[in-house]
Amino acid sequence: MVTQQQVESALQSQRSLPQIRLGDALIQEKVITEQQLNDALQMQSKDRKMQLGEILVGMNAVSKEVIRRVLAQKLGIPFVVLSKFQFDPNLIKAVPGDLVRKHGVMPLYQTESRMVVAMGNPLASDAIQEFAFYTRLKVDPVMASQEDLDAVIKQFYGEHGDSQNISDLVSELDVGAESTAESALSSTITESDNTLVRLVNKIILDAFERGVSDIHIETVKGNKPSRVRFRKDGVMSHYSEIPFNFRNALVSRIKIMSRLDISEKRQPQDGKINFEQFGPAKIELRVVTIPTTEGLEDIVMRILAAPKAVSIESLGLSAYNLEGLKKLAIKPHGLLFVCGPTGSGKTTTLHSLLSYINTPDRKIWTVEDPIEITQEGLRQIQVHAKIEWTFAAALRSLLRADPDVIMVGETRDPETAHTVIEASLTGHLVFSTMHTNSAVESVVRLLDLGLDPFNFADALLGVVGQRLARRLCTSCHRAYSASDDELEMLAHEYCAETDLAPADVLAQWRKQYMLESGGITLFSAEGCPKCEDSGYKGRVGIHELLINSAGIKRKIHAKANVPEILHAAMAQGMRTLRQDGIEKIFQGHTNWEQIRTV
Ligand SMILES: [Zn+2]
Repeated sequence: MVTQQQVESALQSQRSLPQIRLGDALIQEKVITEQQLNDALQMQSKDRKMQLGEILVGMNAVSKEVIRRVLAQKLGIPFVVLSKFQFDPNLIKAVPGDLVRKHGVMPLYQTESRMVVAMGNPLASDAIQEFAFYTRLKVDPVMASQEDLDAVIKQFYGEHGDSQNISDLVSELDVGAESTAESALSSTITESDNTLVRLVNKIILDAFERGVSDIHIETVKGNKPSRVRFRKDGVMSHYSEIPFNFRNALVSRIKIMSRLDISEKRQPQDGKINFEQFGPAKIELRVVTIPTTEGLEDIVMRILAAPKAVSIESLGLSAYNLEGLKKLAIKPHGLLFVCGPTGSGKTTTLHSLLSYINTPDRKIWTVEDPIEITQEGLRQIQVHAKIEWTFAAALRSLLRADPDVIMVGETRDPETAHTVIEASLTGHLVFSTMHTNSAVESVVRLLDLGLDPFNFADALLGVVGQRLARRLCTSCHRAYSASDDELEMLAHEYCAETDLAPADVLAQWRKQYMLESGGITLFSAEGCPKCEDSGYKGRVGIHELLINSAGIKRKIHAKANVPEILHAAMAQGMRTLRQDGIEKIFQGHTNWEQIRTV
């Protein structure tokens, strides 16, 4: 049995079998006698922790193999060949390695109310109870060979944690390096070398399991090792070094996985890895090779492993922004933009909005490049600029495909801009993103693209501006009482380029955030093992929401400039990105160091 479907149907038929105890089954099979069973049960009554199977094996009444066969045949517990099973990496991420290693139990997949786990002894009730307690799911055990279990647990969870495992692999490479020292520069290691293949798989699996967004492989000339770094939550950090004589094979291996030309070293190449073909996880990676110097190439891989859409409530929106966005998202037609620089979480926000309105009574098309988040119920289209299947072209086709809602990955050219306006004016709800710094700037940019101000003003529902700031690690953040100087500085920053008075803002903060002791608590970044000593873990969204109104429309008609539109937007309640960020400092999510650059 190697697929989820096979295991599911075996579990179904197991449920329809009459309930039978292991002891009775063994007697029916005539592998033990009544007397042996009674002796074993008596021993068990003295020590409830001992399992009947273990006791019988200890008594030499029966072998482990026989018990396993009886479990499979009589109790109908499915036996799974793990080496060929397609594991769910998200479940693997969700179940901690300590729990898995402690019991030697491997999670296979999860349904709404149940988790199916593979174990050597599917009657081990303590393991089942602990898994059920941790996951709050009913646990269905299936059987697997101990050898298979050990192998997959090592592969997915490592023996003593991940970092040790990668250095084990690298030191294996080093041994190889010494033995071929003379020909090291010409690299006798080929791209099909077994350890190299495992190493590349390990890098990708580690990156995925750690929630890394990008893998950077940086090659250096001469006999210096290649460096592998990971970017996570926007921050680069060292991962590993690979001995220099594996440089060519490493690059070639990744090119082969990406279906790129190995011999082309002078031109950059773009490709994609469908990791499922090479390793035990459904991970997609976008790959770029960049020629650097003297025939060397760097490789950057972006992990596209389908993350799930997050709910609109968990985006960290302020009450004003959340309520406003929800109202805009259920409009029957109009145009809603999310804007921000690369990596500011625009796609995440768009998919949260889509999931909020993703109901059977709406037809939702998306046009994306690349598709980073998949959602059931959406019809998602990948654009291919090379064959002229562009955002604008796809959008024109979709207008004939009876849509209610269309999401367009990015609006960056006049043609797409005109088409999204047309789509929203003809009765569709259109979401898109722009690569601009603020909500108001997006409005001005769209006017600059040559849109008719009256059509645009009619179509526009609103614009979300956003950033991601690093979130303080809650395991080590340190609370302190903010000094008057710090509060004044924050109030000053809060009011910059607005009509607000710092003294009023300060008074409001004291009312809202002051403790009985008279101080206002802020938090500083410290550092602990949980955040790799950075003081930060994960990120927090910073937002601003410009809601179109009669006042804003007049500004658009008049092709007003940024300060004029900003003034009108703030007068109707908008808080700027920086203001939202400062609020999030007071709420304890982040600190000024992270917000000052917003
Ligand atoms: Zn920490």
